[in-house]
Amino acid sequence: MTSTSRPLLNRRLAEFGTTIFAEMSALALRTGSINLGQGFPDTDGPEEVREAAVRALRDGRGNQYPPGPGVPELRTAVAAHQERRYGLSYDPDTEVLVTAGATEAIAAALLALLEPGDEVIAFEPYYDSYAACIAMAGGTRVPVTLRPSEGSFRLDLDELRAAVTDRTRLLLINTPHNPTGTVLTREELTAIAELAVERDLLVVTDEVYEHLVFDDAEHLPLATFPGMRERTVTIGSAGKTFSFTGWKVGWVTAPSALVTAVRSAKQFLTYVSSGPFQYAVAEALALPDSYFADFRADMLAKRDLLAAGLVEAGFEVFKPAGTYFITTDIRPLGAALSKEGDGFAFCRALPELAGVVAIPNAVFYDHREAGAPFVRFAFCKQTGVLEEAVRRLKSLAG
Ligand SMILES: *Cc1c(COP(=O)(O)O)cnc(C)c1O
Repeated sequence: MTSTSRPLLNRRLAEFGTTIFAEMSALALRTGSINLGQGFPDTDGPEEVREAAVRALRDGRGNQYPPGPGVPELRTAVAAHQERRYGLSYDPDTEVLVTAGATEAIAAALLALLEPGDEVIAFEPYYDSYAACIAMAGGTRVPVTLRPSEGSFRLDLDELRAAVTDRTRLLLINTPHNPTGTVLTREELTAIAELAVERDLLVVTDEVYEHLVFDDAEHLPLATFPGMRERTVTIGSAGKTFSFTGWKVGWVTAPSALVTAVRSAKQFLTYVSSGPFQYAVAEALALPDSYFADFRADMLAKRDLLAAGLVEAGFEVFKPAGTYFITTDIRPLGAALSKEGDGFAFCRALPELAGVVAIPNAVFYDHREAGAPFVRFAFCKQTGVLEEAVRRLKSLAG
């Protein structure tokens, strides 16, 4: 057999060929649609943080390889943020690692902590890089499906307990959860923590939406629960909190042995990244509480605007307690409009029907049928853009 007669993409990655985001963004362009598919803000973050990046560039800070673990200013700011917000104390020198966004933190953690054949439990629907990174690490993913219940997607704790086997190495948690907007409650997190301690599991927790929680919801880091700090890798990012998704500045906080393991993989992925931006993010993390409160209030108003519009258009809306996504059920639109409840077909038709692009949640599931009727809209867009989207979507209601 010659090297070209077998598929070029290896078996671990073959199932992840193309992403729906490329197809949907192309469709948005071709039809002049409003793109509420991909989740990035259409307004940049605070001016003073941008200026801090410019200053760092001009002053020659971070233009050459920064230190492997991240610049000390940022590591100190991350530690101070965890302490100030959550009372979690981490040593900036040994328990904080700066990464190329949360994406690299997830990849490095899984590559470092998994042996081939280890099972990883993650909530389905998942953020799209989880499945691919588990596969690259040679792990086996074990999905536990979040199911709709009284207006939100909930975790079945019995199902979670039943998913743990002797081969389970790690729980991969995400709260606030993309795409469902679920924020795990104190009771749910307590049960997860008890299970992790009882079965001696490692936990990787993706908390990139920690500052985007609404109404009565509260973000509680898993590392704050009894027995958890020592077994938990917590992942944060500046992208979502400060609306600089292009800067790719993320971080890991964990006990030093876990940070050392994650760094062992990270050093051979990017080694380092985002030099000058690291200094700017250090300043961003020290912004006064009013920044975080205003950011949340702005996103809350946007959530309510889009949620009301989607209800008016005829969708069932799962009002998110966190993140900047709304998951909807298309079936109340009727069999014809909702393409028999097929989210893929619906999202392919929506640009022509209404001039709006959304993402079918089924792409985030292993059990595609469980996600079939759900469709995700992002609301991290300017108010005028959301108003126009709502006006267009009203045409669905006839
Ligand atoms: C956006 C996102 C990420 C990636 O964050 P970056 O810092 O841009 O790499 C990771 N996890 C979730 C759940 C996300 O929504």
